[in-house]
Amino acid sequence: MIGFFVEPQPDETLYSIFARYADRVQYPSQVKLIRELTGSVNPLNLTLLPGRLGHLDRALPTHHDWSVDALIDEHTLLPFFASFRSRQRVLALRRAMQETNGIKVEAFAGLHASHIKLPQWLRYCVDCAAEDHLRIGFRYWHRIHQLPLIDVCPVHEAQLINTSVSARMRGRWKRLVTADEAIHRSIRRPGGTHDKKKRETILALARDCEWLLQKSCTGIKIVELRQQYLSLLQERQLATWAGRLRRSRIVAEIGRYYTHKFLDHLGCALGKPDRNNWVIRSFHESRIEQVHPLQHLLIIHWLGLSASELMSMHRESLPFGKGPWPCLNRSADHFRKFLIQACRVSRSPKGGVPLGLFSCPACQFTYVRRGPDEGPKDAFRIGKVRIRGREWERNLRSLWMNPAVQFKEMRARLGVCFATIKRQAARLDLPPRHLLKAVLSDRFQGKAA
Ligand SMILES: [Zn+2]
Ligand SMILES: [Zn+2]
Repeated sequence: MIGFFVEPQPDETLYSIFARYADRVQYPSQVKLIRELTGSVNPLNLTLLPGRLGHLDRALPTHHDWSVDALIDEHTLLPFFASFRSRQRVLALRRAMQETNGIKVEAFAGLHASHIKLPQWLRYCVDCAAEDHLRIGFRYWHRIHQLPLIDVCPVHEAQLINTSVSARMRGRWKRLVTADEAIHRSIRRPGGTHDKKKRETILALARDCEWLLQKSCTGIKIVELRQQYLSLLQERQLATWAGRLRRSRIVAEIGRYYTHKFLDHLGCALGKPDRNNWVIRSFHESRIEQVHPLQHLLIIHWLGLSASELMSMHRESLPFGKGPWPCLNRSADHFRKFLIQACRVSRSPKGGVPLGLFSCPACQFTYVRRGPDEGPKDAFRIGKVRIRGREWERNLRSLWMNPAVQFKEMRARLGVCFATIKRQAARLDLPPRHLLKAVLSDRFQGKAA
C-alpha cells in the first residue's frame, strides 16, 4: 500500500493521475511504480479503458474516498465507449476493468472492431490548459480531449493540439509524461483541420461526448433504443409501419447529409446498404451494441437530435408499451392477434397527449389511439380507424352483396355501426341494398312459379 496519492482533477485521465503521482514521488523506476499501483509492469492504455483497477483500489491509502466505480465513471472513457451498451454488458465491462488486464478489457469492449482509429498522441486544448494553470497551478490531461475523431474542445471550440506523447502504451515501455511537462516542452504535432460544416459536425459530436462523459454509465435498454430509432425513421418514411427498413434510402440520405468523403475520413465509409453496413446494424436489435458510439452519434445527429435529447425522449417514448400490439380488425380471422410490431408515436397539437398509430401488416387495418396506456387492456381500445384495409372491404362487399345477411349481423361481423356500413358501401360503389333484395325476391318468386 502506498502512503499518499495525488488528488484527481475533474475529467482527468488515469494516465494523467499516474503521471502526476510519478512526478511527485520521483520514484527511481517508473516500471516499479506502475507495478505497485496496478500489479502489472505494463498496465496498457491508462487513457482509454484501463484494467486491474481492483489492484489499484487495494494499493491506495486506506483513507482514500473514491470507489472503483467512481474511478471508472470519472477518470476512464467507459461512459463514452459503453454509452450504447446494455446494462448487463456495462456491468461485465466494469468487472473486467476491475480484475483483468487492459488487453482483455479492450477486446471485450470491441475497441478494435470498427475502422475508427484511436488517437495516436495525447492532446490538449490551449484554453483549458491555461484555465487549469490559473485555477490549480498545473495542467493535466483531460478525457474529453483523448476521444477518437473528436479533435475540437467542446468548451472552447478550439482545435486540440497533438503532443508527441504516445496515447497508447502498447509495446515498449514508455515513460509517463505529465501535461505540464509536455506543454512546457511545447512538443506538439500539427492536428488536422476541417472546413466549416465538418467542424460544426465534429463540435456537435464533441458536445454529445462531453455530456456522455459527465453522466454515470449504467447501460441502456437496447429494445427501447431500437424502438426510438424506428419511430424516427418511420416519421421520415424511411421504415414501414410494419418495421421494415428502407435500407437504400437510409444509407443514401446519410451519405448526402455528411458526404461520403467526410465519412471515409472518419473511418465510417458507407458501402452497400446490406445488413453488414454500420448504419443498418445500428437499427437491428441484436447488432446495435456492435456499433461504435461515434457512429450512433452520427445517426442521432442525422435524425436531428442530440444524444441527450434522444436519451431523454427515450424514457418517455413508450406510452403504449413495447409491443407487439393486436390487430383490431373485427372482420379478420386474426382479430385480437398480436401482429403489429411497430407503433408510431406523435403528440397531439393540443396538450401534447401521445397518439399511437398502429397498422396491421396482414390486413392494413390502421387505427389511432390516445395514450398513455394505463394497463394491458388498453391495447384492445381503438380510438379512431384510419384505414380499414383490403380484407375489411372484401368482407363488407361479400356481406353487403348477400341480401340474406341482416344489418345486425353485418354490424357484429364488421365491428362498426349502421351509418359507417352505409357510408363505406357508398364509398366502394356497392349497389343499394333494397335493389339487391328486390332481385333476390324476384328470383325466389320466379322459382316458386
Ligand atoms: Zn478547452
Ligand atoms: Zn390485421
